[in-house]
Amino acid sequence: MITLLEQPKRIPGGLHLEANKRQSLERPLRQARLPARLTVPLSQHIGEAAEPVVSKGDRVLKGQLIARSPDYISAPVHAPTSGTVIDVGDYPVPHPSGLSAGCIVIEADGEDRAADTGLKMEAVFEAEPADIRQRVRDAGIVGLGGAGFPTSVKLNPGPEHSVDLLLINAAECEPYISCDEALMCHHTSEVIDGIRIIRHALNARQVAIGVEDNMPDAIRCLQRGLEQAGEQDIRIVPVPTIYPAGGEKQLIYALTGEEVPSQGLPIDLGVVCHNVGTAAAVARALLHGEPLISRIVTVTGAGVSEPCNLEVRIGTPMSELIEQCGGYTGEVSQLLMGGPMMGIALVSDGLPVIKTTNCLLAASRAEAPPPAPAHPCIRCSACSEVCPAMLLPQQLYWYAHARNFDKIQDYKLFDCIECGCCALVCPSHIPLVQYYRFAKTEIWAQERERRKADLARQRHEFRLQRLEREKKALEERRARARKALKKPGGGKDDGKKAEIAAALERVKARKADAAAETQDGNTGGNG
Ligand code: SF4
Ligand code: SF4
Repeated sequence: MITLLEQPKRIPGGLHLEANKRQSLERPLRQARLPARLTVPLSQHIGEAAEPVVSKGDRVLKGQLIARSPDYISAPVHAPTSGTVIDVGDYPVPHPSGLSAGCIVIEADGEDRAADTGLKMEAVFEAEPADIRQRVRDAGIVGLGGAGFPTSVKLNPGPEHSVDLLLINAAECEPYISCDEALMCHHTSEVIDGIRIIRHALNARQVAIGVEDNMPDAIRCLQRGLEQAGEQDIRIVPVPTIYPAGGEKQLIYALTGEEVPSQGLPIDLGVVCHNVGTAAAVARALLHGEPLISRIVTVTGAGVSEPCNLEVRIGTPMSELIEQCGGYTGEVSQLLMGGPMMGIALVSDGLPVIKTTNCLLAASRAEAPPPAPAHPCIRCSACSEVCPAMLLPQQLYWYAHARNFDKIQDYKLFDCIECGCCALVCPSHIPLVQYYRFAKTEIWAQERERRKADLARQRHEFRLQRLEREKKALEERRARARKALKKPGGGKDDGKKAEIAAALERVKARKADAAAETQDGNTGGNG
């Protein structure tokens, strides 16, 4: 049984970074304007892309399902406003690859008329966990902390696990990003309602909200909200401000002193972690019937005139958010989705906001300097001192560079959370995280190839076994036919009957041969 520490621990490694959150928090949270056109990607989450259920020309209402999830690890997509579908096709999306992907484009009618989504639950705290999970799934809710993992899957720890601790991640440790802080201050009751629903769905024994200790306003709002709700069993735990204390494994360590096993999951310790924004989305869906069609986005950086937090419909072009924040300053040099440590560089501000867009950082050269030329590793070990996952980044780099993908896994590559601490302190300016991402991508590709080869081998083996079975059956039938022909003491009629039986057996045998040929053709000759 896992227990919360009286005093949270400091995570291993990490860096003290300039927070830079005040810029966006000085202005109040406000609604972004509804855009004339919204581009809603089909894949805004981890897992299979959603499949469109609308076509060009269809009229849609706000909150209406427009793409369904085809798989367990997937999430449906809903219309962010009412209007007309003007296209279903590939458009540029915010992704590190910079490629285009399937989207549904909606021209807004400006009326913002809502559909009856059927998501609202009347007695949610008496509902079966399975029903809550289904509604959360139908609402298209994914982790809003940045990863985008379908929330319904994390609400299902399986019958073999009980949940000792529901940990709400409100640490928001990356510099510049303040959307969770704005949410906790402005939508406190939604956050608390969402946490209570998740606690009920998981039947969690304890609940804690991990929040960085440099967010006194958010802590005060949460305390007041819990008091007003008469809630005494949800503990707020301020954790020391250090990047990346908001990493899932790091936060669990800070609050419990326990380490999630290498390549394991928090549930292995009896812990389930959800982002604070995800909790609010659950409350919106189950108490107000609104699927995940909007989120808070921090628009900040020296490159934008009036940094602030905006409540934005999914699919809104990022350029409109910049415009609503007073436009670019002359200092902008790069646009990032996310923070300066883990964000992805965007090729254009015409890309749409997606469910995982927590921040739009219009960075100046000083905030996101261009990469300096890399030099050879000098084995100074500065990288391992700051690694929060207690890895050996220089060894990972070495094996990634040498494309030794077996050895790199011995050094726990997949425990790397790509926080970027190692790269930031490296005096040789080696783009370490890029090497780790490259190695992970290669290993996943090799794994896919291996699975494909295994499947082809299995098909080949099944085919040989089937041919063998059929050959044997054929021989048996022929033997029976010969036997019937030769049967001694048979009269004239008996002889005829035997001839007919033998002929029938021959026909059956020929049919079986023909069927086998056809089937082999259909398998594509993968043998
Ligand atoms: S990017 Fe990976 S290896 Fe580097 S410090 Fe972070 S967790 Fe460690
Ligand atoms: S910090 Fe850079 S130079 Fe130093 S050991 Fe790590 S990779 Fe090598």
